[in-house]
Amino acid sequence: MAYSIETRVVHGNRNYDSYTGAISFPIYQTATFRHPGPGESSGYDYSRSENPTREVVEKTLANLESGTSAYAFSSGMAAIATVLELFAPGDHLVVSDDLYGGTYRLFQEVSRRHGLSFSFVDSSVLNNVLTSIQTNTRAFFIETPSNPMMKISDLHAIIAAARNHRIKTIIDNTFLTPYYQRPLELGADIVVHSGTKFLGGHNDTLAGFVVVNDEKTGERIKFLQMSIGATLAPLDSWLIMRGLKTLSVRLERQQHNARLIAEWLQRHQQVEKVYYAGLPDHPGHNLIQKQSSGFGAMISFSVKDATLVERILKSVQLIAFAESLGGVESLITYPMTQTHAAVPKEIRDRLGVNERLLRLSVGIEEVEDIIADLEQAFNK
Ligand SMILES: *Cc1c(COP(=O)(O)O)cnc(C)c1O
Repeated sequence: MAYSIETRVVHGNRNYDSYTGAISFPIYQTATFRHPGPGESSGYDYSRSENPTREVVEKTLANLESGTSAYAFSSGMAAIATVLELFAPGDHLVVSDDLYGGTYRLFQEVSRRHGLSFSFVDSSVLNNVLTSIQTNTRAFFIETPSNPMMKISDLHAIIAAARNHRIKTIIDNTFLTPYYQRPLELGADIVVHSGTKFLGGHNDTLAGFVVVNDEKTGERIKFLQMSIGATLAPLDSWLIMRGLKTLSVRLERQQHNARLIAEWLQRHQQVEKVYYAGLPDHPGHNLIQKQSSGFGAMISFSVKDATLVERILKSVQLIAFAESLGGVESLITYPMTQTHAAVPKEIRDRLGVNERLLRLSVGIEEVEDIIADLEQAFNK
């Protein structure tokens, strides 16, 4: 019987410990495993290659994303860096230009030195993606909604174009999670995650995931994971499992709060523009509903007067001024100096990541308390 996603986030891959029946799957805090004799193995040899607790969270992610397999890494960046090892010097990738700053830094300052090349384009305009295809293009790397401008890229059209050109589609699904968006079901080849964000959900654990749609790519990622070794530790695997169990209730509440806060911001005299795909006047509002079942809980907004930014960041009390997103606690981020500091100023200016832009990761608190905190911060 196929369970709904609300049930699958709780029960994962039916992961009871077969030895004790423990409902919470144990943390196999071990580096290595004893062999009864030569040529004999329990199936576990060494925790870089495989660990039972990590396997549980990997199988759960594969299940939630409708992939053939998933692999857990020590951070989102470790997951993305490992995926890039699928490519060879001379290969070219077309990448969303409005993306996580750390991904931009990895591509430009690390991978380029190893012979990969990248075209950064506004992937919310399909033609930009199509006209960037070269004879050596091997993949599209897309974030939708984009970070931090919340632009929506057309997954159906991009995946269709990729298939025509025998190009792989890689989607960073961190912002919506499989609860709201499952790119592999739409035909994408690879999904990557910063599990640090909504999947873990408590601002307490770094993690990353790669989920694939075919066994051959899965075997290669498994080989790279084991060879490079940036694997997720047993305790951290358990923390992500524990976080995942409440993914559906957290996201529903966070999205509910986000919508009300976005509407409140939109009415505010000192706010210039609100970027949230759940607002009916957002340019991607109709498109996102064709490929996702929700809008998520990330809002960006620009204020009319740049001096307000410092006042808001100094004055918030409930909301924390901190990098990261997706947890139960509301966080406010200044992308220009934090998440997107690695992106050159000319690109940031083109995108709108300027001195007046703030990004809000909406938590599960009472929404009136979050709004009251913003209100007092605006008025300080
Ligand atoms: C945070 C983030 C990453 C990087 O993940 P880490 O877990 O911080 O290494 C990648 N992509 C997106 C969209 C992110 O928000």
